[in-house]
Amino acid sequence: MTSAEIIELTDKYVMRTYGRLPLALVRGQGARVWDAEGKEYLDFVAGLAVCSLGHCHPAVVEAIASQARKLMHVSNLYHIEPQAKLAQLLVENSCGDRVFFCNSGAEANEAAIKLARKYGKIHGGQEKYEIITALKSFHGRTLAAITATAQPKYQKGFEPLPAGFKYVPFNDVEALSRAVNPSTCAVLLEPVQGEGGVNVATPEYLKAARELCDRYNALLIFDEVQCGLGRTGKFLAYQHYGVEPDIFTLAKALGGGFPIGAMVAKEKVAVAFSPGDHASTFGGNPLACAAGLAAVGCLLNEGVIENAARVGAYLKDRLLELAGWFSFVKEVRGLGLMLGMELTVEGKEIVSKCQDRGLLINCVDNHILRFIPPLVITRAEVDEAVEILAGVLAEMKQ
Ligand SMILES: *Cc1c(COP(=O)(O)O)cnc(C)c1O
Repeated sequence: MTSAEIIELTDKYVMRTYGRLPLALVRGQGARVWDAEGKEYLDFVAGLAVCSLGHCHPAVVEAIASQARKLMHVSNLYHIEPQAKLAQLLVENSCGDRVFFCNSGAEANEAAIKLARKYGKIHGGQEKYEIITALKSFHGRTLAAITATAQPKYQKGFEPLPAGFKYVPFNDVEALSRAVNPSTCAVLLEPVQGEGGVNVATPEYLKAARELCDRYNALLIFDEVQCGLGRTGKFLAYQHYGVEPDIFTLAKALGGGFPIGAMVAKEKVAVAFSPGDHASTFGGNPLACAAGLAAVGCLLNEGVIENAARVGAYLKDRLLELAGWFSFVKEVRGLGLMLGMELTVEGKEIVSKCQDRGLLINCVDNHILRFIPPLVITRAEVDEAVEILAGVLAEMKQ
């Protein structure tokens, strides 16, 4: 099919929930993707922080192919080898003790919200169910997740929203200490906010959150769906801070491109779930977990996270260079290969011009360019991307 045919078919039959760009991608390899006409793009979107190993990493492809030939799906009524192994790998490389598997980030956060409520009620009574989240957060699109997501644009039209959520400005220790109270069962935060504009938590903020949660016997939950799994230059973003959560959630990069999510908790918290309390038909299925095992194995053992730290610092330097040249660049921020460039102008046209020149980037909150390339990206690829972006920004200036 041609791009035009794919776009026409989509417009005719697929529900209009996405503001799609006029581009149909059909193939990917490493940090590059191709459209139906064979035009090549350098991919600094990476499936929205999903394809951290690049597209079609051979180890993930092989794991999926061989598991697909062996056993794709069985129920969680039975024990599943790749599920047990992936849980072990996540636990051995984090502060968590037990893993619940699901299929997406929203589901992982749903599981965390349910577990926090259950834990709160067991330890603090029926009224201990309030969850505090941050303005500009993003936690997914289910009803509870949009309620946790403290941005009206995701909530509007879907009221009534579930009760028991309270919002505070991000990185404001004062506001958080005023908000936490004996009814708080959890504080849910992204160590680096993604959709909200690549906002990095300060160490004081996460430390204060930890202390407040301890004081009020509330759980600290980190949503690491986007910033986790090597994206920031450490396996988990909280490892930059020396602050351990009681629960953290994963998805996006976990399956190397295959859908899978996970909620990881400390043992004292995990025991609040009894058999029957939570479940997912597909969650932790053999195929998804085989993909996850391969993907996380590569992240941990092939120097990918170190590369994210190194090349991320390089990309940040290059973006700061651009910020020096163009007065409409307000700020460059982020950690590792999760970087944002805040503009004083709209970013839409820049995204589209970059695309014309073979670079995919994305824009959040209308004016913040976001760079979330595969973690395996090279300095040469960064130079290529920055050259394209610089050309587009220079054109905008005129
Ligand atoms: C993408 C994202 C989610 C939602 O993940 P889905 O897989 O789309 O449900 C949740 N939290 C954060 C921080 C995300 O970036």
